[in-house]
Amino acid sequence: MNEPAANFACDVAIVGGGLIGASLACALAPLGLRVALIEAVSRQAAAQPSFDDRTLALSQSSCRILQGIGVWDGLERDATPIRQIVVTELGRPGRVVLDPAETGQFEFGHVVEARQFGAALQKRLAALSGVEVLCPATVTGIRQGDEQVDITLATAKGDRAMAAKLLVAADGAFSTIRQLLSISASEHDYQQTAVICNITPERHHQGRAFERFTPTGPFAVLPHAGDRCGLVWSVAAAEAERLLALTDPEFLAAARERFGDHLGAFVRVGQRSSYPLKLVRAERDTDQRVVILGNAAHAIHPVGAQGFNLGCRDVAVLAELLAARTGGDPGDPEMLREYSAWRRPDHDTTIGLSDGLTRLFANNSPLASAVRSLGLVAHALSPALRRRLAAGAMGYRGRIPRLAQGLPLAGIRT
Ligand SMILES: Cc1cc2nc3c(=O)[nH]c(=O)nc-3n(C[C@H](O)[C@H](O)[C@H](O)COP(=O)(O)OP(=O)(O)OC[C@H]3O[C@@H](n4cnc5c(N)ncnc54)[C@H](O)[C@@H]3O)c2cc1C
Repeated sequence: MNEPAANFACDVAIVGGGLIGASLACALAPLGLRVALIEAVSRQAAAQPSFDDRTLALSQSSCRILQGIGVWDGLERDATPIRQIVVTELGRPGRVVLDPAETGQFEFGHVVEARQFGAALQKRLAALSGVEVLCPATVTGIRQGDEQVDITLATAKGDRAMAAKLLVAADGAFSTIRQLLSISASEHDYQQTAVICNITPERHHQGRAFERFTPTGPFAVLPHAGDRCGLVWSVAAAEAERLLALTDPEFLAAARERFGDHLGAFVRVGQRSSYPLKLVRAERDTDQRVVILGNAAHAIHPVGAQGFNLGCRDVAVLAELLAARTGGDPGDPEMLREYSAWRRPDHDTTIGLSDGLTRLFANNSPLASAVRSLGLVAHALSPALRRRLAAGAMGYRGRIPRLAQGLPLAGIRT
């Protein structure tokens, strides 16, 4: 490799320009911080792994955060509100219906396409000064020091050296930064694969999101633009291969068979793709002058649609802590401790819920079955439990950051 071509210094270097890294850059630029966003894959939408065909359910708190960082305006037109969540279990009567009205709200959040979300982030980034986007570029070396982190990059134009006061790893579940820093991560393979696609039912979704638990994994139908829905169907890996190979009419019939009669028959399906599902959690989310967030800190099962939402709250908290120290050291160890302590309860609860639900509903023992029945009955009957579940689905857990409350950050430069 050649010697680095040029040196440059910034306040915050974000590695990974996916949904989380790009959101963080949008949040930090108006604070007057010099931000570098380092992304490995060219920003052309078709090639970008974070901005793919996924349909994402954004919680109400995420929508507020995106509004606060100037991204929501570019997304709202194509976003579909979630007016109700209906939870059922295959082979068991009864259902839990969560209604935002129980917590005095109109909607749980909105459904958007990851690809459109990516485009809105790129548009916002292009309008902001203070963010240098380095793409395609990958980090090949890191040296942490008392004053700064020295970073070596491989770029299309050769190697480059830079320094940052704070390095943020937002480079996904299999984070290179974590590996370069020897920060281990625990992994659990759910032995499930999510098959995703757009699908059109006979009857309009009316803004309802459906989560149907089955022994092979959850079957989620999200309300989407027009009469379309986003389908996330978790199955065993071999079954995913089979589902991907079916003809469209065969797939539509198989989906109807799993989902039941909630929306009538499925009549049209878009392109199908698949994602193997793993739980990955970093052993810690900070290090000397380093924060690890989004999927790099915690990649979770899509049940309950919480992955991005959890990372979005990481973004809001880090931005709030940095905003409160405008002019100070962005890598201040005290700030990093505060970040970790603030985020841990939300990480523990959200990861615990998504992992617990996935394992409970995939377990065929009589005990697990009894717990499931009791759980559904308790939620159906108890308004207090339903309210707690509804608030969690909206993304309000524990200490709520300012952006999620709809409040501006301190130190915003207009
Ligand atoms: C099927 C499915 C459905 C989902 N549905 C929902 C949902 O409804 N709601 C929800 O909240 N969440 C959902 N999620 C989770 C959500 O998609 C993720 O949590 C979110 O995309 C994570 O974003 P990220 O930016 O942290 O990571 P990633 O999307 O993995 O992005 C990482 C970025 O880092 C870049 N990168 C990687 N390595 C390097 C490197 N060495 N140097 C530079 N750049 C690098 C990559 O190119 C990429 O752009 C779903 C996930 C799946 C699989």
